[in-house]
Amino acid sequence: MKLSEIYEDRAIASNVMPKISFEVFPPKGGESEFPLLYQELNLLKKYNPVLVSLTWGAGGNNNNSMELVKSLLTDLKLNVMAHFTCICNSKENVEKHIKEIESLGIENVLALRGDEPQDIEVCHNDFRYANELVEFIKSKTDLSIAVAGYPEGHIESPDLEFDIENLKRKVDSGADAIYTQLFFNNDMYFSYVEKVRKQGISVPIIPGIMPVISYKQIERMTSLARVSVPVNMREKLERYKDRPEDIKKFGIEYASEQCCSLIQSGVSGLHFYTLNKAYSTANILDNIMSVV
Ligand code: FAD
Repeated sequence: MKLSEIYEDRAIASNVMPKISFEVFPPKGGESEFPLLYQELNLLKKYNPVLVSLTWGAGGNNNNSMELVKSLLTDLKLNVMAHFTCICNSKENVEKHIKEIESLGIENVLALRGDEPQDIEVCHNDFRYANELVEFIKSKTDLSIAVAGYPEGHIESPDLEFDIENLKRKVDSGADAIYTQLFFNNDMYFSYVEKVRKQGISVPIIPGIMPVISYKQIERMTSLARVSVPVNMREKLERYKDRPEDIKKFGIEYASEQCCSLIQSGVSGLHFYTLNKAYSTANILDNIMSVV
């Protein structure tokens, strides 16, 4: 099912369960670790995800992506959305992969610029920005294309307005949906959606939710991306810094509240950055399903 059909009702009534999707990445250990990922995904299948998105080259990790795409599709019977990045990618390589993706019956891809890997000195890119990749995929296939959005602005953007102009370029090039970077302050998301809509962008904007699972994870995320941590959250993180179980519990509570408020506002989807672990995401979904 294509993105436009999945999120047909762009704004649903408040307090109605939105469409659920999960992001996973190829395990660092390669094929030998695929069964671990399957185990986690099997625990999440009962929440009927509309799609599972699989990262490409994130953090320099691309271990057997195509093999994993095939296996998630055929063995786990999941609707897979494959990611593609511009970084170190040639037109030839992208064309080969998108054609293969399409021949497998996959209908959706997420087109990104990606980030330059630190361990590669020279890297040839045929595409500079994500909008060029969107345009290319659109010209070669019938795939439905999603792009990334940044409620607090992309880290390299001088300001949010500049970043939204870029988002418009991506949508005008053919993107059908926007998945946001994680955020911890829903007001940032609401205000972003308002600004984006004012620019005439009407495609669904699916909020990205990342449960806090450790102190280190938050330190890393906030150093790599423009993601602000609200004061009350920061206090709790400091308090539970050396208590891993408490931090995980707090992460579930925090994200559950965040999701409930998003559901109340009538979002059409929730996209979970699972970090390849089912536990926190499953608990959040149980919590929200008990109140929606
Ligand atoms: P772009 O939209 O190309 O924008 C990048 C920057 O360039 C922005 O600051 C933008 O404002 C600026 N810009 C764009 N066009 C121009 C222009 N013409 N002139 C000047 N500046 C311009 N990374 C991975 O490596 N693999 C993944 O699988 C992956 N999945 C992701 C999924 C989601 C939902 C999100 C939110 C991010 C993901 N990322 C992934 C991270 C992403 O690749 C990085 O955030 C990257 O730095 C930007 O990618 P983009 O597609 O948003 O870039």
